[in-house]
Amino acid sequence: MKNKIIPLLGIMIVIALSGAIIASLIEQKNGDNVQDEHAITVAASFYAPYIIGLNLADDEGIIRIESLTASDEGCLHDYQLTANDMKLLSQADILLMNGGGMEAYLTEVTDNFPDLVIVDLSRGITMLDSMVHEGEPNPHVWLDPRLYTVQVANARDGIIAYINTLTNLSEELRSELEDKVYENTEIYISKVEAIDEELDKLIESLKENEKEDEAASKTIIFHEAFAYIAQRAGLEVAKTIELEDETALSAGVIADAVDLVKQEDIGTLFTEKQYGDDIAKRIEEETDAKVYIIDSAVTGEKNADAYIRAMEENIITLKEALKVR
Ligand SMILES: [Zn+2]
Repeated sequence: MKNKIIPLLGIMIVIALSGAIIASLIEQKNGDNVQDEHAITVAASFYAPYIIGLNLADDEGIIRIESLTASDEGCLHDYQLTANDMKLLSQADILLMNGGGMEAYLTEVTDNFPDLVIVDLSRGITMLDSMVHEGEPNPHVWLDPRLYTVQVANARDGIIAYINTLTNLSEELRSELEDKVYENTEIYISKVEAIDEELDKLIESLKENEKEDEAASKTIIFHEAFAYIAQRAGLEVAKTIELEDETALSAGVIADAVDLVKQEDIGTLFTEKQYGDDIAKRIEEETDAKVYIIDSAVTGEKNADAYIRAMEENIITLKEALKVR
């Protein structure tokens, strides 16, 4: 009997061992699949949400961030989805969108991709009224760093909520990813808060200067986005002049602006590179107001620190414009 049991045990051991090896191979393969197939693809509707995504993603690239628009596209005003956008959206798990009407194509997205998780970064933010499009909100909230931190936190919550739906990932991996996104969010928000403190200091200095230079506190802006940084810096926007692509402003509009600058003693005209500053320059020539260039952080390098750098430059420009040392 013993002689028969020993080979039988041997066979059983071999079967058990090879079973274990096969199981571990399958596990390895699944492990690879977790990386390949279940990497989380986050699409951003344009540059500003894209930069938020870059800051929140893990370093291992399990969370992939892609922007629908090219990084030199600018704001989405009247943007039409391209074939490439549709392809990216078909692969995406999450869409980070600015909200407030910035993504005019949104229904096209929800109709075509009903399973795509859409994260509205402006949830809980009260927007300014548009001075250009009556009855609509001004969606460019990211230029107020305080509101921007709300957008960053909304992105964090949206991504983490999605991670927690991925029951095919191990609980360990899910909690690792979640921790990483939390940690990255905290690091990024603290950088944004440092920018916000700079604006507080600017306002303090302005209060001290106010009696000397009252005109400095009124401005004309040439992109509605600047309404948010102006508000945050305690400036009054006397007028918003926005150029639709390719259309020149009538002589009447420019003459009215010149009159307004003279009447209200407006000191600054805030424009930006990509929208051209011809109109602002013409007003400058006929008045005492000066043109300054603000970066609305809607174009730039594909670099996580792009927003922070743009805002640092903006604060330098504001200090110069408002004669704050
Ligand atoms: Zn815009």
